[in-house]
Amino acid sequence: MSLEETSENLKTEQKKNKKPKRRKKLWLQICNITLIPILIMGVLFVLIGLFMLRLSAVEETLSCLRGAAILASEHFSDINGIYHMNNGELYCGDIRMSDEMYFLENEKKAFGAELSVFYGNNRVLTTMVDENGKRRLGTVLADNRIVMEVFKGNIVSTEKNIIGNERYLCVYVPIYNKDKVVGMVGTAMSLNKFYRINRIFYIDIAILTLITAIITFLLIMIFSRKIVKRLLYISDYMEELVNKQTAEQQMHPLAFSRNDEIASLAGHAVKAGNSIKNLMGTDPLTGLYNRRAGRQHLMDLWENSHKNFEVFSIVIGDLDHFKNTNDQYGHDVGDAVLVKVSEILSKHCNEKGFVIRWGGEEFLMGFVLARDETYEIIKAASKDIKREAFFTSDNRIFHMSMTFGIATFTGQENIDAVIKIADDNLYKGKNQGRDCIVS
Ligand code: GH3
Ligand code: MG
Ligand code: MG
Repeated sequence: MSLEETSENLKTEQKKNKKPKRRKKLWLQICNITLIPILIMGVLFVLIGLFMLRLSAVEETLSCLRGAAILASEHFSDINGIYHMNNGELYCGDIRMSDEMYFLENEKKAFGAELSVFYGNNRVLTTMVDENGKRRLGTVLADNRIVMEVFKGNIVSTEKNIIGNERYLCVYVPIYNKDKVVGMVGTAMSLNKFYRINRIFYIDIAILTLITAIITFLLIMIFSRKIVKRLLYISDYMEELVNKQTAEQQMHPLAFSRNDEIASLAGHAVKAGNSIKNLMGTDPLTGLYNRRAGRQHLMDLWENSHKNFEVFSIVIGDLDHFKNTNDQYGHDVGDAVLVKVSEILSKHCNEKGFVIRWGGEEFLMGFVLARDETYEIIKAASKDIKREAFFTSDNRIFHMSMTFGIATFTGQENIDAVIKIADDNLYKGKNQGRDCIVS
């Protein structure tokens, strides 16, 4: 065995061993292609929303802190006298500043923020206490740039101040004494408290996002299932058409429930189905019903007559010595004879009955008519067939005849019993020398 052959064998072996790929359900695929982008978008929106929410909440808090600090700085700037330290305590004229603590405590209650008064950079009054409950007095502001800005007369806001071990949102406002900045009021709110206050909004957003995601998922599932269901109706229709090969299958009406591509697909499937049904039930040479479709018509004929107590007749016609025609003039000429004969028989049946190509050169006709009327029709058809000029391939004329057996329904138990009588009569006709009608 050559190297190429070996590798070819290996490949086919691998193909055989490969597990069949599991078909992913269509509705899951639809969910995937719609849900994943929606979820990504949702997460992005939530992140952007949270970021914006934080920005505006910080801005809101700082503006509140600024209000409290300005109020306090005006209070301390309006006191008459000169600010000075005496025995480690801050005075303004005769007024001891520690007596002004009630003001800071009241503001703390009103604004929910911590307040401190700095003399220079030294925290001399504060509402802030450390973890042991001791007031954070005597500390300085570590960031010198803030102190320098405030002493230039500016208000400074910051998000990044660390006091003790905690991060604070802070605002610093200068205190004036005789038009000179002597200190500052600082207001602060710890980030922990800030997040505690705003937590409810974050939780709301998360819950809303979750609910929206669940509703979106359910809606997509419902809609995608509907689409898939309609496609399945089409698939079932086609499957039944291919597997059962009967004319009974119907397209489910819900496949047409919307005027969309699926409905048009269902329409095409039905058209294709009808063509297939026609092809399945039609004899390709003569265009007549073939034996299989014909049987269904015969069953219907028998059932209707049985139900409505109507009479009907069956006729089987067989071309005489047709084998000779084939042998003498060729198969194509034989085919042309069959086509012409089928046309003559169809013409005579017209609306009174139907014609089936029952076998090679055998035709079966059904009429909702009694024996005599049927006989007359067949007589006329037989005459036309005999009169018809058929041509050989070298344009010589020849003629054909046909023998007929007629059977009329007189309460036989099934259609086959009636067909058998017609067949027997045909046989009798052949034995009687052909070109005759036996009923
Ligand atoms: P009889 O009068 O007893 O009916 O004799 P017959 O020769 O007509 O009957 P037989 O059953 O011996 O021959 C029927 C012939 O029909 C044999 C077959 O070759 C021919 N035949 C069947 N189907 C076709 C067809 O589709 N086309 C053609 N050209 N010939 C066909
Ligand atoms: Mg025959
Ligand atoms: Mg024959």
